[in-house]
Amino acid sequence: MAEGFASWTAPGAIVRPVLQQGCAGPTGVAPIIQLHPTRLCNLACAHCYTASGPKERQQLPLALLCAVLDDAAALGYRQLAVSGGEPLLYEDLPGLLLHARRLGLLTSLTSNGLLLSPRRWAAIAPLLDRLAISVDGREATHDALRGQPGALARTLHLLAQPRATGTPFGFIFTLTQHNVDELEDVVGLAAAHGAQSVQVHPLTLHGRARDTLLGARPDGQELLAAIVEAQRLAQALQTRSGVRVQVDALSQDQIRAHRDRLVPAWPASALTTLAPVLVLQSDGQVLPLTHELPPALWLGSVHEMTLKALTARWLHSSASRRLVEALERTWQALAEGMAPAAYWYDEVAARARPADPPLTVSVSVPVPLLPSRGLAARGPVLAQGARQ
Ligand code: SF4
Repeated sequence: MAEGFASWTAPGAIVRPVLQQGCAGPTGVAPIIQLHPTRLCNLACAHCYTASGPKERQQLPLALLCAVLDDAAALGYRQLAVSGGEPLLYEDLPGLLLHARRLGLLTSLTSNGLLLSPRRWAAIAPLLDRLAISVDGREATHDALRGQPGALARTLHLLAQPRATGTPFGFIFTLTQHNVDELEDVVGLAAAHGAQSVQVHPLTLHGRARDTLLGARPDGQELLAAIVEAQRLAQALQTRSGVRVQVDALSQDQIRAHRDRLVPAWPASALTTLAPVLVLQSDGQVLPLTHELPPALWLGSVHEMTLKALTARWLHSSASRRLVEALERTWQALAEGMAPAAYWYDEVAARARPADPPLTVSVSVPVPLLPSRGLAARGPVLAQGARQ
């Protein structure tokens, strides 16, 4: 699931508050490596940032992934997040999770949930610490994004598998410019089906989403609306349902208060300092932080050298220096600008591409603290706004 664990793990977290006290990375989680073993998927969703699908055959061999995990663990990464493509279609998934467990890593998986058959689930359930399932809104919205009628109903039905084994699971909700009003329904579904959390992850215009959902990326005001809505739902529902709601966005106050954690010093002696999230794409390329960073800032390919060697080369390179410079520029712009909230990694990626203007929308009107139903009409009404 492309969109999922980029958030649960990478730009997001395994359902922990952003900038939670005492956690390592800027997103509030211990260093995490996100693997995309395959781009094969049973779906071809409109918002898929890896452009995965049923015809995609690109995948990485288990031996190579295990070698990467060996190096990642030695470098200080403590969590493995498997994404995709649909990871349940990766034949060697049990072997990958087993290897991670032997290295002492926490294991997590993001799935569309449609292939959670008893046979598949039995093979991985004992090796999994957490499962993330994508639920993108009410039935009509979810099924339209997934391109498959009945997708939500089947996914919800198959949640009987993780419930039966007692495996903790949560939902990931892709926030667009138009669907914050559906968050309450998704939280309701989470409560009804035993999910512990709902993670709200902003849509990024990458992969297939760049072609199909142009204009649907949530702007700063919509992100703030999601934060406010999550807080409202936390007060209204959390006590009753036990479902936690987390938004992968930072308010301007959080950005101002946490410069030390958002902008590391360069050079750094540890990769985890500059890249608390490390992404391995199915083509073998290793990226710091997010798939949206330009290739000039990547570490390189594990087909060419080991992760350990890539790290040694990258840490003192102009690429890592430019990344830190982009982090600094992003912090300056967001701390001093007028955007009420931002998806940090998206903003960093925009500022790491010199040719592109930053994405943040300047907002000069107060954001009303409206109940969720009142937010429904706001998305299309709000213009994309001036770029900073
Ligand atoms: S389920 Fe959809 S979003 Fe996830 S990897 Fe497959 S095509 Fe992409």
